[in-house]
Amino acid sequence: MGQMGDVVTEPERYAWPNDARAATVITFDLDAESGVLGDFPAAAARLGIMSHQIYGPRTGLPRLLRILDRRQITATFFVPGFTAERHPDAVRAIRDAGHEIAHHGYLHERVAGTTEPEEEGFLLRGIEVLERVAGVRPVGWRAPMWEVNYRTPALLARNGFLYDSSLMDADRPYLLAAGDAEDGATIVEVPVHWSLDDGEQYAWLPGIWEGTTIENPRKVLDMWTQEFDAVVGEGECFVLTNHPFLSGRPSRARALDGLLGHIKETPRVWITQAGELAAFVAGLELPAVRHEPPLPSGQSSGGQIIPGRPKGGYT
Ligand code: ZN
Repeated sequence: MGQMGDVVTEPERYAWPNDARAATVITFDLDAESGVLGDFPAAAARLGIMSHQIYGPRTGLPRLLRILDRRQITATFFVPGFTAERHPDAVRAIRDAGHEIAHHGYLHERVAGTTEPEEEGFLLRGIEVLERVAGVRPVGWRAPMWEVNYRTPALLARNGFLYDSSLMDADRPYLLAAGDAEDGATIVEVPVHWSLDDGEQYAWLPGIWEGTTIENPRKVLDMWTQEFDAVVGEGECFVLTNHPFLSGRPSRARALDGLLGHIKETPRVWITQAGELAAFVAGLELPAVRHEPPLPSGQSSGGQIIPGRPKGGYT
């Protein structure tokens, strides 16, 4: 079974479809202005910073869509509701090119430290905008900043979501308990990692994200290629997270294009979208993994959650 005491056991191995030896999902978070405004609302008054974010839908996205089209890869785009309101044509272009559109908050809110009604409000508002602007009812959610509450899977399940893509405890998707033990609700987790996120490589903005350096795309390509090759060797699932305002810039887009070429040339790799992958995993009848807060014995609740501002990480 998926659990042993309070400690989750090794992820369940299962075979990929069509004799594939590994799986790959290319994902993008179209954060645009909301990627800054969620944490720094006053930045709305700073055109320099806003223009850095607008580069994503305006300039980076068209370039990345051309690359995906040339490589014949359909990806998953996680889109905050506010981005869809500000840049409806960009979101419709993603949809029209056959990519999956998924949920990434309304204003890229961190859910840690929020109340349950507040958190569900972000969810409902984001759904409403994606339906109104793009005619899409998202089945996937990715937490802004990969900040997830223990109650989040249950909120996703009761609002009709099939999967989350924010946790880091496995190299392949798994079934995630989404509610209390009696109701038996589940969603699929499509796990991610900071090392496969371009935020840690390229995000730098004065007064906003100063804790990192801007990395050389050759280094980034080398690092991601190493991880992809090792993931394939292990028979696992490679999930890449990029942002059009970051990886849409020319030399970075070229590096990503090189990685996509390498992925396409690697035999027996299932290249799919997160929603399709989650639907496949949901049909496997895997035991569900239940995450609970790790608390010292005799303690029934954790300390207070202090929502922090970003120090270096960004997604
Ligand atoms: Zn984001």
